Amino acid sequence: MRPERVNIHATSPVNAHFAGMEVALKGSCYSGVPTMVTITISGAGKSGALARIATFLVRKGYPLKGQQVVESAGAKVVKVSLEVSHLDRTKLAAELRSLSPDFRVVSVEGAESAAPSIKDMADRFPDIVSLVRAYGESFGSESRDRELVEAGKKIGAFLYEKEWSFGSPLRMPVALRRTLVPALETLGKVDASDTDVTLSESPFCGTGKIACCEFLTGFMQGFLDAGPLTQNTRVHKAECKAKGNPRCTYTFSYDL
Ligand SMILES: [Zn+2]
Repeated sequence: MRPERVNIHATSPVNAHFAGMEVALKGSCYSGVPTMVTITISGAGKSGALARIATFLVRKGYPLKGQQVVESAGAKVVKVSLEVSHLDRTKLAAELRSLSPDFRVVSVEGAESAAPSIKDMADRFPDIVSLVRAYGESFGSESRDRELVEAGKKIGAFLYEKEWSFGSPLRMPVALRRTLVPALETLGKVDASDTDVTLSESPFCGTGKIACCEFLTGFMQGFLDAGPLTQNTRVHKAECKAKGNPRCTYTFSYDL
């Protein structure tokens, strides 16, 4: 569906429009103390983009408090401020994409995040599947995989240091069999060879849900990077159920 195009000019009653929305939202989904959240949207260089975004957000019921176009790294981005107590970043990103496929949420600042922290994952390991999912869901699809890899790296390195760094450091592929695979088995059933690891039922994957498999890519990479003799190993996700493959497979490349 292509939304109708509405141009906002100085006389446009955006705030009057918003005043009515606020009443409608009170007592419904927006509870708690609202805070100001600034959202940066790229792909909004064309004239009229600011007005389109502002009108769209107001129509969707977001409490819009301000909007401006700013230059960032030579490109124009739109910054909008919303006063909300909770922001579903994934939903907002999807809504903006439905307005124009060019619009991408590049950052959300000031949001009171309900998402778990990386420290929460470290504390609760290996009981972290729901935490990782919640963490993944707190990012838009544009940045989710990257953020999951980074979180996974930190948890993998943390776990290696905590539980697997004692004794003589091991090289690949022995390190894979004796340390990484046992560490992964605390998360789910794993099949491994000297150059790959397969999870036929990865708890981080699954169709119809947000795939958080990149957390494991990061986890394995961080784990191996933390080992003195496995730092030359690169982890690559080769197959994923969420992409239609029958399983999730990660391959390892390393020099012997
Ligand atoms: Zn997968």
